[in-house]
Amino acid sequence: MTVGIVGGGQLGRMLALAGYPLGLDFLFLDPATGTPASQVAPSLQGAFTDAALLRALAQRSEVLTFDWENISVDSLRALGRDTRIAPPLAALAMSQDRLAEKRLFAKLGIPTTRHAAVDSPASLARALRSVGLPGVLKTRRLGYDGKGQAVVRSVEAAHAAFESLRGAPLLYEEFVPFDFEVSVIGARNRHGQIVVYPLNRNLHRDGILRLTRAPWHAPSLERRAASHLRRVLMHFRYEGVLNIEFFVRGGRLLANETAPRVHNSGHWTIEGAATSQFENHLRGILGLPLGATTPRGHAAMLNLIGTMPARDAVLARPDAHWHDYGKAPRPGRKIGHVTLLATGAAARDAAAKRLLRHIDPESLRSAGL
Ligand code: AMP
Repeated sequence: MTVGIVGGGQLGRMLALAGYPLGLDFLFLDPATGTPASQVAPSLQGAFTDAALLRALAQRSEVLTFDWENISVDSLRALGRDTRIAPPLAALAMSQDRLAEKRLFAKLGIPTTRHAAVDSPASLARALRSVGLPGVLKTRRLGYDGKGQAVVRSVEAAHAAFESLRGAPLLYEEFVPFDFEVSVIGARNRHGQIVVYPLNRNLHRDGILRLTRAPWHAPSLERRAASHLRRVLMHFRYEGVLNIEFFVRGGRLLANETAPRVHNSGHWTIEGAATSQFENHLRGILGLPLGATTPRGHAAMLNLIGTMPARDAVLARPDAHWHDYGKAPRPGRKIGHVTLLATGAAARDAAAKRLLRHIDPESLRSAGL
């Protein structure tokens, strides 16, 4: 049985690596050559919008899924009803538009940031009045890893940011001086079974995830985050893995964004949970029973960004797990990750601190470790 995956990045690669023990085969579509996924599975090369290639992918696959959300919903929809696609395209479309996402949060009673749509200098002026300063001006579409957004602290800066992002529909939202950030990941299958992983505490720098620690022991936050996630899963009659990121301020959760796919903040589940998010995504999209999300100890996941540290020095640490995505190093590019496992939260944090000092001292300063 073949799973077709649109996008051949590291998420696709880890889906394939999780799927082989289930007896699955994989076929990818990506415009680039030498992708992380193409190193472990066959891959078609061409545009995500190439109708003939998408049809070929669909014909050879039991189900289509994606490892990247900035792909064309229309091109996938054009494949017609005979092609099974999961997660649902309605969830993909929602996650591509920050305004649609905010509207869904509001409809489902999930607290989020104050915000307003901006498409002209006049609507920016209105947004600045209603939301206030400081704020963040973001492109509604095609943003990731902090790209396409600017923090603004004055009316002049807001107008300058508008000019630099001009042309794209924008969203202006309050700047949240958050205490920290968390995310919640879960999966649903078509039989209505839902599983939710323990809460992740995330550290970003320059808009890019640097460190995730899980389980993050905060029972009340975890309960509320899981309840918000379940509402979104049920709303879409979802199949596969879904992620929601939140800001935490004064004990309150404010939803930031969703990802209708496996997520970087869930990489720790490969070694740190009974069933990884990658396996549960595959089980979810194929209608198989979902696996337990019980943690195996306490995990810290550190992204390797821009340059690879010396592998052997990292592996010399007890309970360190190395993941190389097979990508060429480039500044700001995620090229691998390391997961550390410990028997307690304090030992996990101490191990994360030691490794951060070695591979990402700048993030250590803001990590609060
Ligand atoms: P996003 O692409 O929206 O996930 O933003 C990437 C990161 O930028 C977030 O994880 C936050 O660390 C930061 N960020 C985004 N929006 C805001 C906001 N409204 N207030 C404060 N920080 C933000």
